[in-house]
Amino acid sequence: MTHSQAARDIDTSRPHSARMYDYYLGGKDHFEVDKQAAERVAEAYPAIFVCARENRAFMHRATRVLAREHGIRQWLDIGTGIPTEPNLHQVAQSVVPDARVVYADNDPLVLKYAERLMRSTSEGRTTYIEADVNDPQTLLTAPELAEVLDLSRPVALSLNALMHFVTDAQDPYGIVRRLLDVLPSGSALALSHCTPDFDPATWQKVTDIYTSAGTPVQFRSRADVARFFDGLELLEPGVTVGHRWRPDATDGDAPTDAEVSLWTGVGLKP
Ligand code: SAH
Repeated sequence: MTHSQAARDIDTSRPHSARMYDYYLGGKDHFEVDKQAAERVAEAYPAIFVCARENRAFMHRATRVLAREHGIRQWLDIGTGIPTEPNLHQVAQSVVPDARVVYADNDPLVLKYAERLMRSTSEGRTTYIEADVNDPQTLLTAPELAEVLDLSRPVALSLNALMHFVTDAQDPYGIVRRLLDVLPSGSALALSHCTPDFDPATWQKVTDIYTSAGTPVQFRSRADVARFFDGLELLEPGVTVGHRWRPDATDGDAPTDAEVSLWTGVGLKP
């Protein structure tokens, strides 16, 4: 086996963020090492399960609002994660059956399950690219992307619970700018991002757990998350805690801001 083949193998000796997130969402696609790391996070931050669930719910609402109210028919979803029903294309295609979705993630395990992301309506289309957001050029020039997305028409760039895995040293704002630069007017950015704002001590522990597991993270303040939307027109209600972004009517008790600890927003490119 060559070195590059070995590197692409699924590493079960170390926890991985996509598989830890699968554990938070109650999925089955993780290993013991991921469960142990996820449980260490849950010890420090018991509401991690609420955060993960609200993050998913924000993605559903933002996708529906963009499809229903802003004419979006195409999505580029980076940091897709291990498939969890409903996936973004299923939400989009429930509103507009001909919606087209390109998914991208750098975790080989997500690639293994990618066929679940391809089950599309007959009118719609989806594809999956194994790619790293830190290399936007390679992602944007992938032939599969050009096959599914028409970059002369609006595209929603969906970066949910992704950018906190890109530290300032990796130029997160420049990366988002380069991705938005190739999209036409009327395109959108939908983004969610974990924050230490409501409970800094807890989030320092979460940071330490991820970092010592080999995954550098940088959880950001509201002002730093709002910077991702520079140059865009924010949809109401602006950058808000996840469960406060256009909530559906719920009968249960709303979670607290500290439990959710997620800044979310949707902006349109003028
Ligand atoms: N977007 C989904 C999953 C979030 S979990 C949701 O919000 O529900 C974060 C995902 O980002 C994981 O699947 C992880 O593999 C992926 N990821 C982390 N760093 C990445 C990078 N540099 N490039 C691409 N994907 C990355």
